[in-house]
Amino acid sequence: EVAATAAAQEILSAATPYAPPEGSSSFAYEAEVSKMLDIVINSLYTNKDIFLRELISNASDALDKIRFLSVTKPELLGETKELEIKVDYDPDNKTLTVRDTGIGMTMDEMVKNLGTVARSGTTNFIKALSESEKNNVNMIGMFGVGFYSTFLVADRVTVASKSNEDDTQHVWESVNGESNFHVGPDPRGNTLGRGTEITLHLKEDADQYLSPYKLKELIRHYSEFVTHPVSLRQIKT
Ligand code: ADP
Ligand code: MG
Repeated sequence: EVAATAAAQEILSAATPYAPPEGSSSFAYEAEVSKMLDIVINSLYTNKDIFLRELISNASDALDKIRFLSVTKPELLGETKELEIKVDYDPDNKTLTVRDTGIGMTMDEMVKNLGTVARSGTTNFIKALSESEKNNVNMIGMFGVGFYSTFLVADRVTVASKSNEDDTQHVWESVNGESNFHVGPDPRGNTLGRGTEITLHLKEDADQYLSPYKLKELIRHYSEFVTHPVSLRQIKT
C-alpha cells in the first residue's frame, strides 16, 4: 500500500521538460535584453497589472499602423477587415491571450523586435534605475521594452504573428529565466489571417488574471484611450 503510493507520487511529481515549438530555431537574447529581463523578473514591488497595459498598447500601435496604411491601400486589409483586440482567458489551461488584427510581424521582425536588437531604450532603462528602483519597474513602457513585462506574470510567453510581408505565420516562444528564445513556423499554420496573438502561460501566483472581474476592470482602465474595440471572452476546454 505504502509502496504503491510512493510510486504514484513519483510519477505525479515528474516535471515535464520544456520542449520548444517543433521546427523552431533558438536565438540568444542580446546581452542587454537578458540583463533587463533579469531586473524585471526580480522587481519585487512592481505592480504586475501593467503587463496588460503594455500588451494593449502594443496591440493598439499595431492596429494603428495597418489602419494608417490601409487608408491609401484598402486592399492591404485582405480578408481580415475587422481591426480589433480580443482578450481570451482560459482558467483550465491557465492562459491569457491577447490577439490583435494589426500589422503583425515577419519572422525577421519577431527575432529583432523581441530579442536580438539592443534598443537604446534597454540601455537607458537599466541606467535610469538606481539599485533601489530596480524593485519597481512600473515605468518600463516609457523605455520601449514594455513587452518584457509579460514575464512579471508568465513563466512562458508564446507570440504567434502573421504579417502581409511574410507568407508564413511564425511563432516566438520564451521561457522565464532562459537566455534563449525560439522562433519557427507556427505548426498550426495561418490561424490569424493577419496580426499577433500573445499567449501568457500564467505563473502559479498570477491566478487573479483569470478572473473576469479583475480582467474587465484592467481592460477598461488600460483601453480608455484606445480607439479600437477590445473584447473579453472565456475559453472553455
Ligand atoms: P515599444 O512598444 O515601446 O516599441 P515593446 O517592448 O512594447 O516596445 O515592443 C517591442 C516591439 O515589438 C514593438 O516596437 C513592435 O515592433 C513589436 N511588437 C510588440 N507587440 C506587437 C504586436 N502586438 N504587433 C506587432 N508588433 C508588435
Ligand atoms: Mg510597447
